[in-house]
Amino acid sequence: MKYKRILLKLSGEALMGQQQYGIDAERLMQYAEEIKTAAATGTQVAVVIGGGNIFRGVQAEAFGLDRVQGDYMGMLATVINSMALQSALEKINVSTRLLSGVTIQRVCEPYIRRRALRHLEKGRVVIFGAGIGSPYFTTDSAASLRAIEMDADVVLKGTRVDGIYTADPEKDPTAVRYPEITFDEVMEKNLSVMDMTAFTLCKENNLPIIVFDMNKPGNLQRLIDGEKVGTLVTMNASSAAPLLDPKHSSLQPALDTPAEQA
Ligand code: UDP
Repeated sequence: MKYKRILLKLSGEALMGQQQYGIDAERLMQYAEEIKTAAATGTQVAVVIGGGNIFRGVQAEAFGLDRVQGDYMGMLATVINSMALQSALEKINVSTRLLSGVTIQRVCEPYIRRRALRHLEKGRVVIFGAGIGSPYFTTDSAASLRAIEMDADVVLKGTRVDGIYTADPEKDPTAVRYPEITFDEVMEKNLSVMDMTAFTLCKENNLPIIVFDMNKPGNLQRLIDGEKVGTLVTMNASSAAPLLDPKHSSLQPALDTPAEQA
């Protein structure tokens, strides 16, 4: 086991699966199983889920709503997703606690740092709902902040892309993946990993981020076992050279020197 404590960030959109809206039951159970396997190895697992499959604050204006109201709606959307994941985990006998940044006392515990730490120490999967509980933030920022507060070893950002690329791989077929990259390079190259607030929190607190494909079965476990999966963002990456073959990037070895890249 490489990591003693992880914070897993899942986007709300990922929960939609092939659907256009809401929660895909199969995808939800798949994530629950992956988390169960990870927790069974003894790694302490905290999870933050987004709400983009239901509502995002930026959509508020299109509805003629106030932005802050929209952000609270987004936060409640994350609570709905968190409740769904909690239920899916408990269905397969994983002990969980849901802690919310917005107090909803019938449904979940309020977020209290020391309590969250205690749950993790007891081996419970801790789900943080409602982001950080304040408007104008995202669940990426909540993931970074809670990971720092929990003294997690790493933020694992599960996406549908298998890492950070030189350009958007869904739009640019020549894009290549970085196996590792530094915080500074991400900023210099203007690559999108997380929003700036979330990213800066990780950078300033020297908290590594791994961006990986959560939809590929077993990836979460591979990461916990110490395998190189996705893209690792650290202060000092050992090799920040992009991989060669854009189509089979995950199969290519990393190149060590700039000369090898030429
Ligand atoms: N949100 C917020 N404060 C937070 C976390 C979330 O206001 O601390 C709101 C914000 O409107 C955001 C929405 O909740 O758009 C859903 O979260 P997010 O967009 O991060 O979800 P994801 O993109 O990961 O699905």
